[in-house]
Amino acid sequence: MSLNPKRTVADLKELRSLTGDDNGAQRVAFTPTWAKARAFLREKIEKIPGVEIHNDEAGNFWATLQGKSEKALLIGGHIDSVPNGGWLDGCLDTLAGVEILRRIAQQHKGKPPVTIRLVDWCDEEGARFGKSLFGSSACSGKIDMNETRELKDKKGIRLVDALKEHGIDFEKVKDSGKELKNATAYIELHIEQGPVLLDLNLPLGTVLGTFGVERHAITFRGQAAHSGSTPMHRRRDAFLAAAKMSSEIYEIAKRSGQGPSRTGGVCTIGSCITKPGIVTSVVEECRITLDQRHLDAQALQQMLSEAKSASEKFAKQGNVEVSWERIWNIEPIVFSNQLIDFCDQAISESGTKPHRMPSGPLHDAAEVARAGVPTVMMFVQSLRGISHNKIEDTKEEHLELAVTAFNKLADKAMAWVASDM
Ligand SMILES: [Zn+2]
Repeated sequence: MSLNPKRTVADLKELRSLTGDDNGAQRVAFTPTWAKARAFLREKIEKIPGVEIHNDEAGNFWATLQGKSEKALLIGGHIDSVPNGGWLDGCLDTLAGVEILRRIAQQHKGKPPVTIRLVDWCDEEGARFGKSLFGSSACSGKIDMNETRELKDKKGIRLVDALKEHGIDFEKVKDSGKELKNATAYIELHIEQGPVLLDLNLPLGTVLGTFGVERHAITFRGQAAHSGSTPMHRRRDAFLAAAKMSSEIYEIAKRSGQGPSRTGGVCTIGSCITKPGIVTSVVEECRITLDQRHLDAQALQQMLSEAKSASEKFAKQGNVEVSWERIWNIEPIVFSNQLIDFCDQAISESGTKPHRMPSGPLHDAAEVARAGVPTVMMFVQSLRGISHNKIEDTKEEHLELAVTAFNKLADKAMAWVASDM
């Protein structure tokens, strides 16, 4: 038995018919449909001889094929989805991993040179409780216990109680960290969820890491004044200063992509609130939010400081004041150079051109990398560039190519893990 990528596509379709409806995938974590998806996964894996299955303290599902060495190659994904989600987000990784596990078990007669472990992370999406990467952040030890303990869903059910129903004791979730003890490399295949590969007409990409994020609220303060009686040159218009930021952030993002082999960042003003917010008054106060992302920590700080200087310049020009308040931030998470090279090679050897790109969204892979395990992700093209929607799709030939290339990456990573003994 060799690798059969068509079987992964068939498995994906089977999962879709089992756990989806007319509105899309319904595998929201800690629901009966999610449990059904997990039972489906277990059933598939139980057919592979020699694979041990258990759940850890955070509800992550582990399938382990013990090798000659304890050192382990980890293949990860998530079978949970958002409500009305796409049929590939998360489960493509998990089910491609199942196929690779089948191939390795067969080829090495149940005893590969290193241990191979498939992990299905618990509640990647955070769709019900608003906390993404639950299982992987518990495993990496980076989870904020105090914040997470208080979470409730829309019906007021506490996360802690929902976990209990699935046999998970919240206070012990960080004990799952022991699963990473012998982890020597981690790989994850995912649908891109954006239009970059589509626009380049390439099926596969190598992910360099996940963006760091700086998120701020910026408030400009001027003076309310009557819109009829106040001459233009006498106004202290808070909106005018804020509005100038709108085009400036495009210049800041553009500049962040210059320099040697640097991928650019992105900046977004996602909200704007004016006070008094009536049609007959100059704006006294204008609050905008700015979200900035870059793969390079220094470049991210540069983007932030350029935005701060611009805001001060525009405030001065308009005789208004400006203040900044940080909402949230996270550092960029960079993947392993060696595994990035392997991923490029695996894509080339599958007959297509590799393309290196950062990931805008966070993924479980970022948590594993944060825990210090060398990590890489492979992206497959997303038709329409849309995810978290029932219209999410990827051409079947690209899915098969992705499984083929991901399998090659697994072999390269396995050999690397073995050589490290
Ligand atoms: Zn996902």
